[in-house]
Amino acid sequence: MSATIAPIRTRFAPSPTGFIHLGNIRSALYPWAFARHHGGTFILRVEDTDTERSTQEAVKVIIDSMDWMGLHYDEGPYYQMQRMERYRSVLDQLVQGGHAYPCYMSASELNALRDRQMAAGLKPRYDGTWRPEPGKVLPGAPTGVQPVLRFRTPDQGSVGWDDKVKGRVDFANDELDDLVIARPDGTPTYNFCVVVDDIDMHISHVIRGDDHVNNTPRQIHIFRALGHEHPVYAHLPTVLNEQGEKLSKRNGAKSVLQYRDEGYLAEAMVNYLARLGWSHGDAEIFTREAFVQWFDLDHLGRSAAQFDGEKLKWVNAHYLRALDPAELAAQVRPFLQRLGLREQGVDLAAAATLLRERAHTLLEVAELCGMFYAEPEPDADSLAQHLTPAARAALVDLRSVLQALPVWEAPDISAAMKQILVAHKLKMPQMAMPLRLLVTGRLHTPSVDAVLALFARDTVVHRLSGVA
Ligand code: GLU
Repeated sequence: MSATIAPIRTRFAPSPTGFIHLGNIRSALYPWAFARHHGGTFILRVEDTDTERSTQEAVKVIIDSMDWMGLHYDEGPYYQMQRMERYRSVLDQLVQGGHAYPCYMSASELNALRDRQMAAGLKPRYDGTWRPEPGKVLPGAPTGVQPVLRFRTPDQGSVGWDDKVKGRVDFANDELDDLVIARPDGTPTYNFCVVVDDIDMHISHVIRGDDHVNNTPRQIHIFRALGHEHPVYAHLPTVLNEQGEKLSKRNGAKSVLQYRDEGYLAEAMVNYLARLGWSHGDAEIFTREAFVQWFDLDHLGRSAAQFDGEKLKWVNAHYLRALDPAELAAQVRPFLQRLGLREQGVDLAAAATLLRERAHTLLEVAELCGMFYAEPEPDADSLAQHLTPAARAALVDLRSVLQALPVWEAPDISAAMKQILVAHKLKMPQMAMPLRLLVTGRLHTPSVDAVLALFARDTVVHRLSGVA
């Protein structure tokens, strides 16, 4: 008899509260990669039961972020708010089975209980007043009060799991009091919904942030009460910012879409985030396909990962340089438009290919493209410094030679420049600096012959006509 292997099904289960940073999207990347690696199914589930904070715009931000990074889901989005009927029927089932019971303790009674426990130096916990026990007489239910439902946690023994990141994790049951699983208005609470969803969606592996570790023992109890095995858990260590604090909007973390808008490439982001908490030997740069092929839960990092903006830039620059010129142009174009630059005269693929050597992002490439697509406005002081009488004389001659060049290409332009330098006894920078300023308006450009070759000859000749 061969063992049947359950299909791999993973999920990303964000709460749509409007902001999604790199640590959040990493909790989508890993379950996505795990599902892809195994030919499984990746599900998007929107945990929107916090109706005060959840918005449809926030759902769009999540979907756009995933879409940008190419984390396509196979099922969903499922919305918890659309599953209320199902939750209510499972709540009934738990009550029927003796796993949940109504509790009429009011908020003020709970507060008083907590105060007494704290005063006695005890950890605050629900004391089981309304928990049915054989032979126990419960207080009479107060009239006009809607009870909460509490889950009946086993009071002895322990509960634990073999976490793919943390190893064995165990909690003593007497540390877990009876969790509220439905509010007085009957709406189910978070830990309960997660379990019903993970069961109904046949989730095989839960890969999520380790801020959920304390929820897991409670969730496992609910799985068992519902007659199910719990999924495999992998709790990912937190992502810290460069100051060593937990990554969060409050601490200045940027949203995923802001990285997109700053000109980071999705492929670079996937590569960078893949390494932020997982490794494959010492591989730093690898394709999405290699990542999917290599990804497993056995090489997840056990300690917190620290975001490193310089490394992300380095990875991005790598991907920028690897793009095919036509693809590079297509990616730079929207950024040019955003900067108000009109693509004209100079071939964008050629310009961007030349300029990417000095850039880390698409936005930086587009900004540098200003040297080709904006009218030059050289700074007067720089001109006064570099456009010396000797340079001026050389540039007048250079203009005539350029005008007559049989071929308008970088090597020919370079040869013409050298010829003029020799004739005028000048060093390259003495002529190249004012030449750059006049033609591009900038002091820093790639090799000037390569830059001139991209312009139409007429443009260069015209821009040099002012020196005579
Ligand atoms: N909705 C939870 C969150 O955004 C995730 C829950 C889970 O993955 O189980 O943190």
